[in-house]
Amino acid sequence: MEYRFLGRSGLKVSRLCLGTLTIGPLQANLSLAEGAKVIRTALEEGINFIETAELYDTYRYIRKGLAGWSGNVVLASRSYDYTFSGMQKRVEKALRELGRDYIDIFMLHEQESRLTLNGHGPALEYLAQAKERGLVRAIGVSTHVVEVVEACAEHPLVDVIQPIVNYAGLGIRGGTLEDMLEAIRLAKHRGKGVYAMKPLGGGNLLRHFRKAWDFILALDCLDAIAVGMKTPAEVKANVRIVAGDPVPPEVALAIQAEKKELLISDWCQGCGRCREVCQQDALYLQAGKMQVDSQRCLLCGYCAAVCPEFCIKVV
Ligand code: SF4
Ligand code: SF4
Repeated sequence: MEYRFLGRSGLKVSRLCLGTLTIGPLQANLSLAEGAKVIRTALEEGINFIETAELYDTYRYIRKGLAGWSGNVVLASRSYDYTFSGMQKRVEKALRELGRDYIDIFMLHEQESRLTLNGHGPALEYLAQAKERGLVRAIGVSTHVVEVVEACAEHPLVDVIQPIVNYAGLGIRGGTLEDMLEAIRLAKHRGKGVYAMKPLGGGNLLRHFRKAWDFILALDCLDAIAVGMKTPAEVKANVRIVAGDPVPPEVALAIQAEKKELLISDWCQGCGRCREVCQQDALYLQAGKMQVDSQRCLLCGYCAAVCPEFCIKVV
């Protein structure tokens, strides 16, 4: 496994970052033991960078997976909170549930524009104080939007940026793939750490996984690449791919054959809450029931988290 510094944050991370959205209740909903096994396998395979978000509800899996592990691990989490006191509660919750004295990277989750970034000023102010007190080691922002990466490149409080990047440009907003790469290069030039999310388009590019990996691994402007994984076998396959080792043909076939989709049960009440959180504009109402446009959906599962009827699942 190759390790790189995340910009000037001082954090040295494995090129492959384990995304844990996939193991939690929004996606595979693994048992605690199964999820912890995925995390432990990642550590044993040389991955030292694990990310989550408050929304993913996976702190307990990470805590169990790390129990007794003596190696260095870099943990990242995120929250949508925009207030000083709210962000303080989010960080304290993460520390409590992860069982740690500090969290390496705490991020503003999915910033949508320069304006929303400015609106989160009080939350950033808290994170800056938490950093001074040693509760947080680096401050980050995740986003799908080109102008947010540009704004973060110049922002004095932001150490780490997590933009969406994949060869098809899926999910990139406010510009093209080239625009996003240009913004990332600017951020790198300013000393920011940059690690990508969704190099496989949330699972939409699995049929072309080799092309997706070749593209993302060739981008020298990225310090690391986060990928959601939900089985020990997936972890081992991705570690081999990132190392440039051959993947056994049967594993390659299994990856290509994997199909993920968003299911909306027919007891949907048509309340529209899911549509409000979908940044891809992938949901629409038809005859009082929510439907998904699979061409737009990135299978993030964020809509599932807000459905009061529990009728959305990524399967
Ligand atoms: S939040 Fe749930 S109940 Fe409401 S429209 Fe969406 S799927 Fe239907
Ligand atoms: S429809 Fe749901 S899973 Fe698909 S992109 Fe929107 S929020 Fe994510």
